Parts: sequence; C-alpha cells; structure tokens
Amino acid sequence: MSTAHLTIDLAAIATNWRALAQISQVETAAVVKADAYGLDAARVAKHLAQAGARHFFVAVAEEGVALRRALGAGPSISVFSGHMDGDAAAISGATLVPMINSLDQMLRHVEALPAHPFGIQLDTGMNRLGMEPAEWATLREIALAQNPTLIMSHLASADEPDHAMNEKQRAVFEDMTAGIDVPRSLSATGGTLLGPAYHYDLVRPGIGLYGGLPFVGALPVVTLDIPVIQIRDVAVGETVGYANGWIAQAPARIATISAGYADGLIRAMGPKASLFADGVSVPVVGRVSMDLITVDVTALRDPPESLQLLGPEQGVDALGACAGTIGYEILTSLGARYKRTWTT
Ligand SMILES: *Cc1c(COP(=O)(O)O)cnc(C)c1O
Repeated sequence: MSTAHLTIDLAAIATNWRALAQISQVETAAVVKADAYGLDAARVAKHLAQAGARHFFVAVAEEGVALRRALGAGPSISVFSGHMDGDAAAISGATLVPMINSLDQMLRHVEALPAHPFGIQLDTGMNRLGMEPAEWATLREIALAQNPTLIMSHLASADEPDHAMNEKQRAVFEDMTAGIDVPRSLSATGGTLLGPAYHYDLVRPGIGLYGGLPFVGALPVVTLDIPVIQIRDVAVGETVGYANGWIAQAPARIATISAGYADGLIRAMGPKASLFADGVSVPVVGRVSMDLITVDVTALRDPPESLQLLGPEQGVDALGACAGTIGYEILTSLGARYKRTWTT
C-alpha cells in the first residue's frame, strides 16, 4: 500500500480540551467547523462529548445537521453563520442554535421559527460577522425580548497577547452587553489564553484542541507517515524533479515518497520543509509534485520505509511556516487520499 497514513489522536484532543477547560474555569465548548479542522467532526465531537463537552460550534447549518446525527439529542450545537435563507428546516429538525448576525437574520428567524432558541453575534471591530453597535442599539430590546441563549463576539488578534485590539474589542463587548443578563462568549483559543477577563461564561476553542498555536501547551494530535516508493543514488551535477529544481552538489541518496500537493501538501512548502526518520531530519529537494515528493535521505544509515512529515518533531504550525501559512490551513488541507486512523 502506498497511500500515506494519517493518525489522529482523539485522546490528545480530549486532553487539550480538558486543559483549556482547566485554564478557563468556565463552560468550554468545542469548535468543530470544517469537519473538525479536517479531522472528522463526528468522531471528534463524539469523543469530546464523552470527555464532558456539552456545547459545539459549527460554521454552517449543514454541518450542524450532520453533527446532530452523530451526537444524538443532548449537546447544544450552535451555528456561526446564523439563520440563512433556507436554513429553517435544518435548524428546527436538528435543534441547532443559530448565532444571529443581522436584523435580516433576526426577522427571518422569529418569523420562520418563533420560540426556537437563538444566540446573537456582535461585531466588536473585526468587521466580519455580527451586528455592529448601531444596528445592535436599534435591535437590542426586541432581540432581548425573545430570550437569546448566548451573546458572542470574536477577537481579531487574540493570537498576539499584547495587541491593543484585544482590550479594545473587550471594551466594546462590555459596552454592547452592559446590563444584559444573558450568557456571554468572546474567546476562541487565543482569547482563552489571554486570561479571566476574556472568558465570560463560555469559551470556544478550536485550533487549540487540534494541537495548534497559539496554545503552546497543546499535545500534538496528528502524525503523517508517507511511504517511500523508491530510493536512488544521484551523482554530482544530476538534477531532481520538475524544472531541474535541485542539483546535487555531492553524491546523494534520494527517496521518492507517496504524497504531494493533491494531498494538501502545499507546493510552496517545498524548498523549506523537512521530513523525519527516527528523529533525523531529511530535507525535501526539488519541487513538490501532485502525488510525489523527493527527499534527500543521504543522512540516514538505512533506507527508510516511510518518512514522517507531521508528528512530534514537526507540528502543523512548523510545517505551515515552511509554506508561508498557518497550522489551521495545514490541518484543513489534509488530503482525502490518506489512510486515516483515529486512536483513543
Ligand atoms: C473558528 C472560530 C472559533 C475557533 O477559533 P480557534 O482560533 O480555532 O480557537 C471561535 N469562534 C469563531 C467565531 C470562529 O469563527
């Protein structure tokens, strides 16, 4: 078998969730949008529910319907995109809680599903989702009369603890929710790490559960082992890969491994990335192809059967940095071709 092997450590995800719950000391939800950052929302959420998570967030109603099927009745499932046109059957059928983002969504929701639970999303400066202060001011009394279950907002720069935007958004959030007796939520992973002033009644970590920054203390969650298909020796001056991307300056041993950019291994990572064999780092040489990557394994004593791209030695953020991106994008790009194993 030549497909690469992705293992997803569900126990580590649960440990990371417990660690963030310990830090926050308030209700700790789990964000499982985008199929739990590519790691399988149904499996991840079921495991977290067993660990004690009672509140899950998804991006869109369709994800919520699939998640409800996996989780059954009980846990709360909230939808960041709110109540979009055509969502009423899904929201009602799967008992989802839309985070209402605008006056239009509010009207749509109370008209289609009167008395169905909903939350409110406020924009405190990110200018992405949620009601702005002026819109909220006009809608506030009407919305509160309908008993929202949560009022939330989202921080733009929480991964930078010293960024002035954090305190600025917190002040706006305080202002917009002053005197309101409804549970509040401001923080994802980054905000959870900013301290108690940012926790309010519920925190909503995503990336920290999956081993990514800014949760420095997270356990790594994914390992990716890629089989070696072929090994060859090249002489000085020989080239490797498309466009003669690499030229041997000394005799070298090249391993060709079975994964490429079609598996989410971003082509741009090529020149900077390394793989690992028993703790020894071996560099990618030449261009990343669609299904193949070439690696200089001269440093290894024995010919490797596989090389590890993600694991304890190189996490999703370190690999992301090689491609000029972030751990989030590495995770959500992980390919469909991998043989996946979930360990508990
Ligand atoms: C994605 C998202 C989260 C989770 O963010 P992480 O940085 O992955 O912890 C929380 N809240 C909102 C609104 C989001 O879009």
